Amino acid sequence: MEKQLRRTMFHPGIAELVGEISSLVRMIESPEELRTTLEEHIDDVDRIRQDIINDQTAGDGVLRTVGDTLASKLFQGRTRREYVMITKCDTCATDKRRQRAATSKTKVPVPAADYLYEHEFNSALQEGRVPKGLNPERFSLGCPNCGSTVNVTSTSNMIFPETDQPVFAIAQRVKSAGRYCEKLVDTICYDLLDTDLRTARSITDKYAFAIIMNHPNGMRDEERRRMFRRQFGLTVGDGNFGDALCYAMRDFLTASFGGAVGRVQDSIRDPKRRVSPRGMVEEYKMLQFNFGLQGRTQDDFVVEGQIKTSQTYQREQDRKSAISHEAYVEVENQLRQEMFMRVPRARVAYEILMRLFASERQV
Ligand SMILES: [Zn+2]
Repeated sequence: MEKQLRRTMFHPGIAELVGEISSLVRMIESPEELRTTLEEHIDDVDRIRQDIINDQTAGDGVLRTVGDTLASKLFQGRTRREYVMITKCDTCATDKRRQRAATSKTKVPVPAADYLYEHEFNSALQEGRVPKGLNPERFSLGCPNCGSTVNVTSTSNMIFPETDQPVFAIAQRVKSAGRYCEKLVDTICYDLLDTDLRTARSITDKYAFAIIMNHPNGMRDEERRRMFRRQFGLTVGDGNFGDALCYAMRDFLTASFGGAVGRVQDSIRDPKRRVSPRGMVEEYKMLQFNFGLQGRTQDDFVVEGQIKTSQTYQREQDRKSAISHEAYVEVENQLRQEMFMRVPRARVAYEILMRLFASERQV
């Protein structure tokens, strides 16, 4: 159990809650009985609410440390920060005349003074104020078509170099933002009850950073190769240049951080194939790994790291692409609904968690 919880990277309070719910879900087969037991069991709601906030803040803090450390190694000279929100207008989405323009999600970059914590961002939205650290002149939640308030569907902290460099940006993202209970229930139920469905989910899945390689950008491969060698002291290999750049960055990370880079999943060599809404098959190529700065962060947490090209990054945000983030979240939701059908106990656990989280949101 300890190994599992550590892998799942929870703040101690939440790790304990997840552990308790896990053992009850494992012991009690009847959904009705499980519901009654959980209702009785989870009595200290105030403590759990505070634990949820602590959990989010601690994880975000680790992510920030990782991003700052990487930025100091990967960029030369000055950098700038942006907070990128992907927003969607529900009003326009239900209006036939406007649907075309509005079902698409809009990327809104706002210059940021510092790393923006997810919890600070959400509290500011609830209180109707501009999150601290964002440029108020550039921050707006009004839909450009109809003016109504948009939904923020995902957010990233981005760091860019001010000059043209081999690394285009570092993106840091709380993947569970707005889907906290979903991630918790996935962790509890996929691992315990639905092990056939997919390989055990890793909660490194909850927080992720991506190193986005600057490719293609119009520069000749030879120039790009020299630039990489000058900055990182490593040679970019042969073959597809975007792929080779990603591998070269992995080698640089391994050389710089040693054991911090673990469990690399190479979907450049074995690309994931996805089908777009228009029936086109697309390859999703990146390197994915666990990254832990042992001893560098208080809680010795591990986050998910990715290395990909800027072209892949753009496609992830294009909802017409098979590899769009939106398509991924839809598939994830479908899988979860199917799990709820097969395992009604999972739905019970989810509903209880949602109730706890909803009360936290209203505070
Ligand atoms: Zn609108």
